[in-house]
Amino acid sequence: EIVTRFAPSPTGFLHIGGARTALFNWLYARGRGGKFLLRIEDTDRARHTPEATEAILQGLAWLGLDHDGDVISQHEMAPRHIEVAHALLEKGAAFKCFASQEEIEAFRETARAEGRSTLYRSPWRDADAASHPDAPFVIRIKAPDGGKTVIRDTVQGDVTIDNAQLDDMVLLRSDGSPVYMLAVVVDDHDMGVTHVIRGDDHLNNAARQMMIYHGMGWDVPVWSHIPLIHGSDGKKLSKRHGALGAQEYQTMGYPAAGMRNYLARLGWSHGDDEFFSDEQAKEWFDIDGIRKSPAQFDLKKLENICGQHIAIANDAALRQEIQAFLEASDLPALTPEQGDGLERAMYCLKERAKKLPELLEKGHFILAQRPITPDEKSSKNLDPVSRGILGELTPQLQDGSWERETLEEVLNGFAAAKEIKFGVLAGPLRAALAGRAATPSVYDMMLVLGRDETLARLKDASS
Ligand code: GLU
Repeated sequence: EIVTRFAPSPTGFLHIGGARTALFNWLYARGRGGKFLLRIEDTDRARHTPEATEAILQGLAWLGLDHDGDVISQHEMAPRHIEVAHALLEKGAAFKCFASQEEIEAFRETARAEGRSTLYRSPWRDADAASHPDAPFVIRIKAPDGGKTVIRDTVQGDVTIDNAQLDDMVLLRSDGSPVYMLAVVVDDHDMGVTHVIRGDDHLNNAARQMMIYHGMGWDVPVWSHIPLIHGSDGKKLSKRHGALGAQEYQTMGYPAAGMRNYLARLGWSHGDDEFFSDEQAKEWFDIDGIRKSPAQFDLKKLENICGQHIAIANDAALRQEIQAFLEASDLPALTPEQGDGLERAMYCLKERAKKLPELLEKGHFILAQRPITPDEKSSKNLDPVSRGILGELTPQLQDGSWERETLEEVLNGFAAAKEIKFGVLAGPLRAALAGRAATPSVYDMMLVLGRDETLARLKDASS
């Protein structure tokens, strides 16, 4: 069985890079009937806050990246990490080191002066227990003596590291607490993780983690270290390029499906396919399609893809997503009537919309209540002459069927009889029905509002 995981350090919000890493692992597992696990790497108690964990969970929930099983706290696994450090000691793969900070500093200074590597190799690595003093110690792994370590990486290929570049890494500190590097390996092993997809900033860690895998005789998971995301200028993604937090995209109103689609394309491709569904992404996602060069974040592309997702989205689902958006943005929720109206109007709001707030903006006519207060721009369309025109039009809408064709006949006939262009009629109608200048077509508004509400708004405006 395929088991992947996302293992964020809760130091802040879920950033775009983290969201993409989570998505890749999620897609890989979900497309293969595997499991996607979530582990919070909260070993550094000073730097990690419960708020950050909460923010990460919320970001994942918004993106719909559901995990299997409980959320695992790395900190709570500490006893097991300690146990493994002692097992490595038993096996002779690790040793107790009694060197003081001063001795280690002195070693480094000498090494520097002699132009040798400053990576620490402890004189205690081969000492027998009889020579151990009764003093504080750390447990270190015994770095391999000569030779090379090969990291098999599905994205980077084989990465060979000279073992001289590895130090006798600390596993347990003198206060008995385990280090992060040990925790990652033990947790991945215990959670049965088969595939790890993570940022290539962890590639250096992989060589050190391998010492622990070898020491325990455990299988190394399939590693895929993916290039980080860059901005459109090719430089590493930073605040300069715009929002970095996944949730900022939620509060800007990008639909989650569009965000997933766009993030999946950041560093992975399936032929020329740009726009696809979750089902297609799960089916298509594979490690072969991950690119070796950094992906560039491109807001235009994100908007384009989000627009396509809004266009095909189910109206009831969009209504729900708008509610979630309003809640996440601390804005007032839609009343049930507003929600119903918006859902009925959705068909004419979706066109060209790239973000959820655009649907609300265009749907203002259905959310607003009588009497409609025109905004500055549209109030210009309600001068006395225009109001007179609306007053003459209103009785003509009293009878006849309330269908697009009939309405078109009535309005066109009215304009022809008055010898005015349709545009001269449309401005005041928009102002009367929506109080805005940018709206769906007057026919769509009339159909969605219905005869009674339309007539009432026209009367309000013409009286
Ligand atoms: N906690 C690490 C991070 O947030 C990830 C570690 C890993 O994936 O192995 O960067």
